[in-house]
Amino acid sequence: MNIKIADLEHRKGEPLRFQLTLDADELKRRHQEIRGLTPVQTSGEAAKLGDLYYVNGNMQADVDFVCSRCLRPFKEHVEVPFSETFAEEGSELIDDEDSEILSLEGDEIELVPLLQENFLLDIPSFPLCTDDCQGLCPTCGVNRNEQACSCKNERIDPRLAGLADFFKDSQ
Ligand SMILES: [Zn+2]
Ligand SMILES: [Zn+2]
Repeated sequence: MNIKIADLEHRKGEPLRFQLTLDADELKRRHQEIRGLTPVQTSGEAAKLGDLYYVNGNMQADVDFVCSRCLRPFKEHVEVPFSETFAEEGSELIDDEDSEILSLEGDEIELVPLLQENFLLDIPSFPLCTDDCQGLCPTCGVNRNEQACSCKNERIDPRLAGLADFFKDSQ
């Protein structure tokens, strides 16, 4: 589904509402942490205000993950707000390197690729079943959320934990 620039011009700032559903299979293929998901229900609106075009709204889906620490499958309801701003191609508003204003290409805004990118960027690279998941014991393999063990992992744990956090932060 695309939004025609001409339609936004005619509406003189009055928002154009839209609803669409993103296909689950393609999103699943494009993110290795998505083990399964429901079609992504999207609703939003687009408007032209001054020289800028705005597209914003919200997406939601139920996503199946596997916890990166304890390997337990879990389901999460994901809500992703989105907000994008466009200007005419060649506009000086886009030239600024820090500008988050996108350039309009052609006479339509293509919603599907725009929304797919927004959705995928919001999916964690290290999904966790709970923020304080204790993970598996690196020595005996028990799920430390369910069972204590007497292994002494102090010598390797802090370094591994630090490394895991480093990779998480760099994503
Ligand atoms: Zn976990
Ligand atoms: Zn253990």
